[in-house]
Amino acid sequence: MDSKLALLGGKPEISSPFSEFQTIGKEEISAATEVMKSGTLSAYYGSWGKNFLGGPKVREFEQASQEFFNVKHAITFNSWTSGLMASVGALELEPGDEVIVTPWTMCASATAILQWNCIPVFADIDEDSFCIDPKSIEKNISNRTRAIMSVDIFGQSADVESINAIANKYNLKVISDTAQAPSAMVGDSFAGTLTDIGGYSLNYHKHIHTGEGGIVVTNDDSYAEKVQLIRNHAEAVVGDMGKKDIVNMIGGNYRLGEIECAIGLEQLKKLPNLVKSRQDAAARLTKGLKGLSGLKTPHVRTGNTHVYYIYPLVIDPMILNLEKSKIINALEAEGVPGLMQQYSNVHLLPMYQEKICYGKKGFPWNLGRENISYEKGICPKAERLNDDTFFGLELCMYEFNSNEVDQVISAFHKVWENLSDLK
Ligand SMILES: *Cc1c(COP(=O)(O)O)cnc(C)c1O
Repeated sequence: MDSKLALLGGKPEISSPFSEFQTIGKEEISAATEVMKSGTLSAYYGSWGKNFLGGPKVREFEQASQEFFNVKHAITFNSWTSGLMASVGALELEPGDEVIVTPWTMCASATAILQWNCIPVFADIDEDSFCIDPKSIEKNISNRTRAIMSVDIFGQSADVESINAIANKYNLKVISDTAQAPSAMVGDSFAGTLTDIGGYSLNYHKHIHTGEGGIVVTNDDSYAEKVQLIRNHAEAVVGDMGKKDIVNMIGGNYRLGEIECAIGLEQLKKLPNLVKSRQDAAARLTKGLKGLSGLKTPHVRTGNTHVYYIYPLVIDPMILNLEKSKIINALEAEGVPGLMQQYSNVHLLPMYQEKICYGKKGFPWNLGRENISYEKGICPKAERLNDDTFFGLELCMYEFNSNEVDQVISAFHKVWENLSDLK
C-alpha cells in the first residue's frame, strides 16, 4: 500500500472503476419482447368500463405485487411521484390542512402535499435512522394537522409503531414513502404496508426498476379505489360509476404501460436476491469499518431489516478534528465510487423559503398558514447532519461485490491512518 494519500499526490487505493448495478437481463428482455409482439403496449381506457383498470400485464403485475408485499391492494403508477400525489388525494384533505413530513427525502414527498393545496410542515429526523422523529412529529401537531408522511429513507423503515400511535391519538392519517426500501421488514411486515397508504418507486436508480414506475399499496378498499380513479381521469368516470363521494376526483394520466409491467414482473422475482446482495455488501462494509475512530456505521433498529439503498455514515468532527468534506475528498481521491457529500433539506428549497408555489400571492400558505416556518433552524438535527456529519455510499449504484467492498474498506483505512496529513 502506498501510504501517501492520493489527494496529496499518492497512488489511489482503488485503480479500476467498479461495475454498475445492473439488474436488467434476458428475462426482462424477453418479457418486454412478448408485449411488443402482442402489439398492445397499453390497454387503458380513460372511461368507465372493463379497461379502466388497465391491461393484462398491469393486472398481473399488481396481483404479483399484492402477493409479494402481502397487502390487499397494489396499484401501479407511471412513477412513485404520481403514486404519492394520488395517495395524498385519496386522504380527502381540505386545502390549507397541514401534513407533517420529513426534510430528509426526495422533494416529491412534500410536493405531493402542496399539489393538493395542503401545507407541508417539516419535523426533525432521528439521528440513528435518518427517518422522521416521532417526538418531533408530536411537537409539530396543530389544530390543522390531518396527516403524517413518513419516509423510509435509505432502506430502513421509520419507527412506524410510534408514528401510528401518534396518528391514533390525534386522529391523523399516515402515508409511507417507501421508495427506497422495497422489501425492508418491520417485524413480519413489509415496510410501506403498515400505514394507511404506502408505496415504492420503480425508477432506474432504485433496487428494482421498470425505467420509470411506482406501486401504491394499501389494505383499505376505499383508498385503493380513490387512487385508481385519480390515476385515470377520475372526473370523467365518477358520473358513469354513480359515485356520490366526488371529493378530490380530479385525475390525471398516471398509468404505467404493459411493457413496464411485464418488466416489473421479472424484476419483482429478482428483488429478494438483489436486496440480499446489498445487505451482504453492507454487512461486509460495517465489519471492515469497525473501529475507525469517529465514524458511525448504520444502525438498524431491532426488528427491522435494512435494504441499503444508501449506506449511511456519520462522522464526529470533534473526535476527528476535521471537516467532513476533507475526509470525503480524500476518499474520493482514493477512488471510492458512489460517495454522497450530503443528503437534502427539503424545507430549505427556494419554494419554501419564499413560499411561492402557485401564482405570486403565496398560495396555499395564504389560506391562513402564513406563519408556518421553513427557516433554517427548524430541523436542527437534519441540518447539522447534512452540513457537518453525514455522508453516504450509494449502494444501489455499483455492484459492490466482496472484492470491491474490500477495496473500499482499505481506502477508508488508508485515509484514517493519514488523517493528520489532512489537517
Ligand atoms: C425515488 C424517490 C421518490 C420518487 O420516485 P419516482 O418513481 O422517481 O417518482 C420519492 N421519494 C423518495 C424518498 C425517493 O427516493
